[in-house]
Amino acid sequence: MFPLVRFSASSLRSISIADQETPRPAKVSDMDGTQLLGQLASALASGAVEVVDLSAPLGPDTPLIKLPPEIGKNTPPIEIHAISHYDKDGPFWAWNWLKLGEHSGTHFDAPVHWISGKDHPNNTTDTIPAKNFVGPACVIDCSGEAAKNHDFLLTVDGVKAWEKTHGDVPPNSWVLMRTDWYKRNNSEAKFLNVDDKGPHSPGPTAETIHYLIAKGVMGWGSETVGTDAGSAGGMDPPFPAHTFMHQANRYGLASLCNLDRLPPKGAILIAAPLKIVKGTGSPLRVLALVPRH
Ligand code: MN
Repeated sequence: MFPLVRFSASSLRSISIADQETPRPAKVSDMDGTQLLGQLASALASGAVEVVDLSAPLGPDTPLIKLPPEIGKNTPPIEIHAISHYDKDGPFWAWNWLKLGEHSGTHFDAPVHWISGKDHPNNTTDTIPAKNFVGPACVIDCSGEAAKNHDFLLTVDGVKAWEKTHGDVPPNSWVLMRTDWYKRNNSEAKFLNVDDKGPHSPGPTAETIHYLIAKGVMGWGSETVGTDAGSAGGMDPPFPAHTFMHQANRYGLASLCNLDRLPPKGAILIAAPLKIVKGTGSPLRVLALVPRH
């Protein structure tokens, strides 16, 4: 099903970008910050700034990645169990307990998720600095290409073409690959899109992830079940979005929705995983602050 996955030392050694310092934008004074947040509160109240929900519903029908058994174990399906529902087990209240994988549904990938990121400081969901959960979003529209070719790969030239129109990908921004793939997430079969050659879904090339890390991005997000393309098991290295982003102590977002509701540039992303102790990732509610257009 999947091409053979190779985690050779040589494929990891070829990566030189790790833990680099990224430039910070000019500091806003405290007074400016107060004014800015006051204006933001007004804009949220008036609707001049919209809050767009980028998360998929999380429940027993949420599509989950299916690794072939020769590669590894899989996450069990999501279960939601009632503890009580205004009944003998709790007369005035309802509450549930969950059986839930860290990498289920719309979720965050922490650097410790991948072997290339396992030794970084602050690489787990409970130790990543909170400021890294909020930042600007660059949205690269690949929906036309992905509709025609389910194995579409975003190349460096594709990113550069976006930059020509919208300006450079800024440091500390999230780069999100819009494919409209989320419209398939009501069917696990359509979402995973597996045939006898393996899964078919769009994603980035290894060079694209390298290029974005050199730009100092905060992370990479996609609408597919994981941050890599369906064909990424056969790339060199395998799963480059995971290998390179996490090697650089950067993050991933998978199974995002509604990227077609974001502008190419100008939205602010809020993507804070649960503070799971030593967590490798977490389902989360991803929100975007978007100027009304
Ligand atoms: Mn993941």
